[in-house]
Amino acid sequence: MNDWNHQDDWAIETLAIRTGQVRTEFGEHSEPIFATSSFVFNSAEQAAARFSKAEPGFIYSRFSNPTVAAFETRLAAMEGAEQCVATASGMSAIMAVMQSLLQSGDEILSSYSIFGTTNVLFEKYLRKFGIQTNFVSQTDVAAWREAITPKTRLLFLETPSNPLAEIADIRAIAEIAHEAGAILVVDNCFCTPALQRPLALGADIVIHSATKFLDGQGRCIGGAVVGPSRYLEEVYGYLRTVGPTMSPFNAWVFLKGLETLSLRMQAHSTSAQRLAEWLEQQPAIERVHYAGLASHPQHALASSQQDGYGGIVSFEVRGGKEQAWKLINGTKIFSITANLGDTKSTLTHPATTTHGRLTPEERQRAGIKDNLIRMAVGLENVNDLKRDLIHALEAIDG
Ligand SMILES: *Cc1c(COP(=O)(O)O)cnc(C)c1O
Repeated sequence: MNDWNHQDDWAIETLAIRTGQVRTEFGEHSEPIFATSSFVFNSAEQAAARFSKAEPGFIYSRFSNPTVAAFETRLAAMEGAEQCVATASGMSAIMAVMQSLLQSGDEILSSYSIFGTTNVLFEKYLRKFGIQTNFVSQTDVAAWREAITPKTRLLFLETPSNPLAEIADIRAIAEIAHEAGAILVVDNCFCTPALQRPLALGADIVIHSATKFLDGQGRCIGGAVVGPSRYLEEVYGYLRTVGPTMSPFNAWVFLKGLETLSLRMQAHSTSAQRLAEWLEQQPAIERVHYAGLASHPQHALASSQQDGYGGIVSFEVRGGKEQAWKLINGTKIFSITANLGDTKSTLTHPATTTHGRLTPEERQRAGIKDNLIRMAVGLENVNDLKRDLIHALEAIDG
């Protein structure tokens, strides 16, 4: 008997297209959008059975909706996880993990190199509720071990980091977490499951800002938490109670995004690699940060835990802020915006935007120089992007 149809055997491209399909009696090929706040029961008995969980089924879209469930099933399969909970944004995904799994008196140990708003969440809003965060360098494994305290319950990191592409050793840091009875949470926004599956490397929970590459076309805000049910049921309970829910429409957009994710991530990576190698040769460029370059200090580690290096390349222009701004302003194709993970290539000046709230000392510690530019390489033709950069570089000299 040929019983080969089990999704355990499927590669990520197939999972991205064929898991989590929902189909109504009309037989539509594309998943429908269930734009409804609640669901009707056949009888009072059925209503009671749904609420008591005796009967599976949908109740109310704050915590159960078929389109959202389809997205959750698909992303869980792609990350190799038991369960996924979709959220209204990447930030609410992080908040849901912290508030459902931690309590007052617990400590987070985090990399310094995290998304700026995540830093504000830890330092301002979680601290108010008695959850303290300590920070270490992403790349210093010994520092993670030394910074563990008896109160450390959760380790948090983002790899490759934004904007300097520092790579954290997920296996080694997961081991440190587990020895201490803590869990490791990885924000997998930059690689996505197409290029990196942290759970397989020992991480306990994966966070996504679906807003970035999962959508891939800059249309919607959303997030997700992925991992084993023993944690995800807690996260789900939080979501059901607090309500930072993904809308069915956004879930539908992200479902479509997942279908092309692997192809897009390969294309982003190929173009980013070509531009990074080329930029490294330019006399006007002082330094390029991209894990796909042999010159990157953790190129080998990145190669061992990632299936590609992603679409974000940062580089330092010879000179200072003035030269960096001239280059940014000199391009015609690139959008000047803080977003990333879009089909459209973007340029950002971190020191005056995403990292502008830091003091000059904090920026220096984070390695964010005034001449640093972050480039999110989109899906335009790479030769057009290169020509655009050539013209912009001429504008600096001129
Ligand atoms: C954008 C981003 C977030 C936050 O996601 P939102 O969807 O904007 O709330 C979290 N982590 C990383 C790495 C991000 O780039």
